[in-house]
Amino acid sequence: MSCCAKPVWTNIRDLGTANALEFDLGRCADCGQYVMHIYYQGTSGYWVVAEEDAAELLEAAPGPGRKALINRWLDKVEFWERS
Ligand SMILES: [Zn+2]
Repeated sequence: MSCCAKPVWTNIRDLGTANALEFDLGRCADCGQYVMHIYYQGTSGYWVVAEEDAAELLEAAPGPGRKALINRWLDKVEFWERS
């Protein structure tokens, strides 16, 4: 939804760093969609996260397993191609 592109954003969890990027998972206050705030290369942006992906990320313990999950999610949303 367009509200998620520049959302009024509520932070849920700081997911730390992976791949030299920094991740915070939150929700769009307007529609309730999970949205990831990603800091990268001195800038930042918002990426919509599917319910099942957000659930997985929130269940994962901090560490290499969660970093791997984040990396898989980046590939899934074609972050590198689209950023
Ligand atoms: Zn939204």
